[in-house]
Amino acid sequence: MADARLSVHRFQASLFPVNAYLVESASDVVAVDATLGMSDGRRLRARIEDIGKPLAGVIVTHAHPDHYGAVTALVSGRDVPVYAVGGVDDVIRRDDDEKERILRPMFGEEWATTRTFPTHRVQGGDRVSIGGATFRVFDVGPGESPHDSWWMLESDVQARVFAGDLVYNHMHAYLADGYGDQWLANLARAKRELPGDAELFVGHGNPTGGPEILDWQAGYIDAFLAAVRAGAEKDGLTGDELTESVARRMKTYLPNDDLEFLMRLSVEPTRIRLASQR
Ligand SMILES: [Zn+2]
Repeated sequence: MADARLSVHRFQASLFPVNAYLVESASDVVAVDATLGMSDGRRLRARIEDIGKPLAGVIVTHAHPDHYGAVTALVSGRDVPVYAVGGVDDVIRRDDDEKERILRPMFGEEWATTRTFPTHRVQGGDRVSIGGATFRVFDVGPGESPHDSWWMLESDVQARVFAGDLVYNHMHAYLADGYGDQWLANLARAKRELPGDAELFVGHGNPTGGPEILDWQAGYIDAFLAAVRAGAEKDGLTGDELTESVARRMKTYLPNDDLEFLMRLSVEPTRIRLASQR
């Protein structure tokens, strides 16, 4: 039974399948992530206006643009605090020029002209109260992105955790940043430190409960790394041939196309990283 005073609304972006969440308390709303594009950010803002309570703050779970790009549209013209752990804030600022260079041609005006950076830096272990909701912060470092964090809602009977992209619920995953091993370690940490019945509100796919999904995600990462090794080291493939071979193998683990392009983008960077480690 979840705390009736705090309800969680899921917002699914139109531009591509990424979630943001709205935590509604008696007094206000907290947004967890904001999706990528300006039009989705405006839709998210309209959803808050429909709820009819003020936006008390925005949390950015991790350093990927499909989660923070639309903060600009969400908060524009208003003084709304934006929270992140220090490492997430650092990476967003560090990579901003590079993300502009990559995302502007892909998304045009959907990518905010001026990105909105976090305004409030927090630390792992902090209890952070934003409006009527209080969160416990887990700073987990590199994983799916160069810096990830989880935010657990407090004053709850059943644990509810905003886990960013720790898990893609039955969608293909992005591993191009090169932290697959740390991601696996974070999944093991989640099994140790999060309540076993925690409901996970994830960045891609349906919210989910129970530890099985953590095992499923670890299996996906293991399968991906094994597929790149098999194609590159055993069969000597590179480039498009390697990508096709990895995509074929991954379809046996996850037989759908959801976010397949993210997995394909991850093949060549992973081949190069694994080759440099040998
Ligand atoms: Zn994402």
